[in-house]
Amino acid sequence: MNCGERRKTVLIQPDMRVDGVWEIDLDELSRRGIAGIIVDIDNTIAPWGAYDICDPAAEWLARAKNLGFGVCLLTNNYHSRADWFARALGLPVVCGWVKPWRWGYRRAMQILGTHSDSTVMVGDQLFTDILGAKRLGIHAILVSPLSDRELPHTRLKRRLERFLLGRRDDS
Ligand SMILES: [Mg+2]
Repeated sequence: MNCGERRKTVLIQPDMRVDGVWEIDLDELSRRGIAGIIVDIDNTIAPWGAYDICDPAAEWLARAKNLGFGVCLLTNNYHSRADWFARALGLPVVCGWVKPWRWGYRRAMQILGTHSDSTVMVGDQLFTDILGAKRLGIHAILVSPLSDRELPHTRLKRRLERFLLGRRDDS
């Protein structure tokens, strides 16, 4: 493997993997100097396409806010859907075609008043959530998707994700 290949591989490797956001230890984040949490919406805190926030995810977000973390939603979804979640959770949101591009993460950090070394990104997709975060040196946490439903092109990406994460593709 040459250096270029190695760099690309590192950029899409999450720093941590959990089944759901509720498994992320907020006290540990605090001890690491993390002050801001950027969170994906679809299949991270809500099933894809649903207007329904998963209870343990909503509780984890509320706990994060109570502990003093800044939390910002970051989604490639359209404005009306993104705004619904922002209102429901009382959180700021950055939306549109923002991932894996750097500017979306920079905008979220600007809102949070944090920098790359004091921010974490939490999401369910390697090629958007994790790649964008790693490009800026943001600690990236990959969650298992909440549902099997997603866009056809995302299902294709999942096969590559499983390969890159070293899982057997059982589908
Ligand atoms: Mg997602």
